[in-house]
Amino acid sequence: MTSTNDIRRGFLDYFGNAQHDVVQSAPLVPYNDPTLMFVNAGMVPFKNVFTGLESREIPRATSSQKCVRAGGKHNDLDNVGYTARHHTFFEMLGNFSFGDYFKEDAIVHAWTLLTKVWGLDPNRLTTTVYHTDDEAFDLWRKIAGLPEERIIRIATNDNFWSMGDTGPCGPCSEIFYDHGDHIFGGPPGSPDEDGDRFVEIWNLVFMQFERHDDGSQTELPKPSIDTGMGLERIAAVLQGVHDNYDTDTFKALIAASQELTGTKAEGEQMASHRVIADHLRSTSFLLADGVMPSNEGRGYVLRRIMRRAMRHAHILGAKEPLMHRLVGNLVSEMGAAYPELIRAQQLIEATLNQEETQFRRTLDKGLKLLDEATMGMQPGDTLAGETAFKLYDTYGFPYDLTEDALRAQGFGIDAEGFDAAMTAQKERARAAWKGSGAKASDDVWFDIAERVGSTEFTGYSASEGEGQVL
Ligand code: ATP
Ligand code: MG
Ligand code: MG
Ligand code: MG
Repeated sequence: MTSTNDIRRGFLDYFGNAQHDVVQSAPLVPYNDPTLMFVNAGMVPFKNVFTGLESREIPRATSSQKCVRAGGKHNDLDNVGYTARHHTFFEMLGNFSFGDYFKEDAIVHAWTLLTKVWGLDPNRLTTTVYHTDDEAFDLWRKIAGLPEERIIRIATNDNFWSMGDTGPCGPCSEIFYDHGDHIFGGPPGSPDEDGDRFVEIWNLVFMQFERHDDGSQTELPKPSIDTGMGLERIAAVLQGVHDNYDTDTFKALIAASQELTGTKAEGEQMASHRVIADHLRSTSFLLADGVMPSNEGRGYVLRRIMRRAMRHAHILGAKEPLMHRLVGNLVSEMGAAYPELIRAQQLIEATLNQEETQFRRTLDKGLKLLDEATMGMQPGDTLAGETAFKLYDTYGFPYDLTEDALRAQGFGIDAEGFDAAMTAQKERARAAWKGSGAKASDDVWFDIAERVGSTEFTGYSASEGEGQVL
């Protein structure tokens, strides 16, 4: 079996041998980019190169980029533990051409790596193109010999990428792997596409146009390529499993949480083990990159992820803080590729231990309150906003944690009631602040983040683009 570490290496070697500069992953906190909370795609560190603000000596690059998608437009937090293919933290393998090669070579490379180097069965691969992109359609026919019904034309923005309201943009092509008809789900564009049978493994972006202030588009003189492939998803394919959580890295992490809690990743407890493994990765990597838990901004997103995992540790019956005891396992799996994990190991363990110790003081009581409040509720009912707010305000339950806790029984939350309770409390606080000299505005981000869970800071305006692959 090819390990995830070998697959990452194999990808970088393949493109390195094809004259790409092999570039280290950038940190998760974007450098000098206040519009984006965390790096969420491989192209983010190269944004200025694509727009022409910066240039690189070598016009091709390849990387395995750390990504977090736990808020904002790309919020995969709620999927984690419940789909086979979503994580809050994942690695995006990418190859980039800065005005060098274009569509044909990008498709040749992708097809060669997948079917020749890695030996995937071409019959299991399906691609999509933007509905007007005849060029990509013809290239897939010519290079891959795919039958027309497996080059699906898609008219939505899923297949058209743009960096922002203005700037580079262009059509995309997504490559899907068919895990077989024993799994629920339909091909892309079909009503059942959200199932887990056809899994998107690789996204090729053809940066071909420039969008101007007046909305018009012109051809870029030197079009570029940006691609992104989820390492965990391709690892599942190459390791012959359907589910990302059955790959080597996740199996090792889940084995550790099983052992420490004396439970099995089966039935109702399966999601808890998966959430713990996933959130262990995102929290550890965020801590290693200098994010600390707090009540606002990036730190609050981190705290939300941590607490969510800690509730699942509680579900598994953990009597003491659990998360920090798993860090060593993560370091064994990923420390060689990411030495920052080794350097930060002690800090990660100490922070997780302290956070979990603190949260456990209110977790039990909060869960009890939740139990009482939901007694007699029927699936489809919503929890009173007041109660969700009390859990948040008094017991430190982030909104999405309560949502996650109610999910299994099919209960929702009265979001408007929650907002109203939040506003009322703010009014009280504002009145109390008068004369204290404190700035009321300090807390504004906190409110927004709590409900919206935005990864974008306010002031970010573009509808499409914070620069990630769509
Ligand atoms: P999906 O439609 O499955 O949510 P996407 O189209 O949002 O994926 P892209 O933005 O195109 O994803 O990112 C490029 C690649 O990164 C995807 O093809 C996929 O392999 C991987 N990827 C995206 N989101 C995740 C995630 N949350 N967890 C793991 N891998 C991911
Ligand atoms: Mg997505
Ligand atoms: Mg997609
Ligand atoms: Mg995509």
